[in-house]
Amino acid sequence: MKITTITAIPLSYRLPEGKTVTMGVGSTLKRDAIIIRVETCEGITGYGEAHPGRSPGAVTSLIHGTIAPLLIGMDATDCIGTWQRVHRMQLSSHGLGAGAALALSGIDMALWDIRGKAANMPLYQLLGGSKRRIKAYAGGIALGYQAKESLAEEAQEYLARGYKALKLRIGDSAKVDIERVKHVRTVLGDDIDILTDANTAYSMADARRVLPVLADIQAGWLEEPFACNDFASYREAAKITPLVPLAAGENHYTRFEFAQLLEAGAVQVWQPDLSKCGGITEAVRIAAIASAYRIPINPHSSATGLNHAATLHFMAATENAGYFEACVSKFNPFRDMFGSPFAIGADGCVEPLDKPGIGLEIDESIFKDYPVIDGPGYVVKF
Ligand SMILES: [Mg+2]
Repeated sequence: MKITTITAIPLSYRLPEGKTVTMGVGSTLKRDAIIIRVETCEGITGYGEAHPGRSPGAVTSLIHGTIAPLLIGMDATDCIGTWQRVHRMQLSSHGLGAGAALALSGIDMALWDIRGKAANMPLYQLLGGSKRRIKAYAGGIALGYQAKESLAEEAQEYLARGYKALKLRIGDSAKVDIERVKHVRTVLGDDIDILTDANTAYSMADARRVLPVLADIQAGWLEEPFACNDFASYREAAKITPLVPLAAGENHYTRFEFAQLLEAGAVQVWQPDLSKCGGITEAVRIAAIASAYRIPINPHSSATGLNHAATLHFMAATENAGYFEACVSKFNPFRDMFGSPFAIGADGCVEPLDKPGIGLEIDESIFKDYPVIDGPGYVVKF
């Protein structure tokens, strides 16, 4: 079954007035996504999602101009071979490293969708997993910077839906972050898992002030206090308290960068994103490396239902899977445009879908509602 066509479809929407969320990377103005469609000579079509990397036009151009021609004519079920070819020709030397990883991720996800459809199996089954309950936390672009009272109110909305864990955006200022996390812990009580994400906005001084407080409130982790490649700071911050693990991975690409995290010895929770890290093929490898070191995999999940659904399949087939990041963004039409990718239960858990492949029906007529708007999706106050 040969690959005949690879098409990247960039999509965008602007956040309506009043729906902007502010966090460590800035305030959201718009959101983008790239849907990948792979067609085969046998008429089976697969879909995947590539993260836009704040430049959806550039990633789309990279796919059409450079990566697709490498793969046309290859066997669509050869996930290892296609991965290896893109790595050899794009990632391993001069070829736009992170951009190529984003592009490859979406194509690889679509190829797994094809494999599942060809085998008439849901992806979790094809990957060797089972339909099991997976713990979820309320995440996505939500619980951003705001008054501590309204933050606690927003958190309570998610608990009312069934969530037993949620993620607060910190990285504002150490003082304000401390006030917010303490207040939310007081309001929610001790039975809810509070996770925190600084989106790379901390200095070491901030980490020294905030980490002991996160230990006091029994936070589940501190995510991305520093830039993705600042291994020295991660190593230093990991010494501050043994009680709050550091988490990272949504900005790390391929098993080779995760191996660097391992060597840094400072990140105890890994968060590969299937639409960024090199796809499902690579996420399986990353999880295998992590399992040997008792590191849990808590995938980051991006914009559309395709990534959410694929992530659940992957987690259902991963021994060391932790939490699923459930997107609870107040305004994210990309999450639900192919139907609902997950449903939170009263037990705070979700399950993978049961149809062949990723399990979502893609109606492309909806794409006309989201014409791409190129450029970055966040504004930052400098
Ligand atoms: Mg994050």
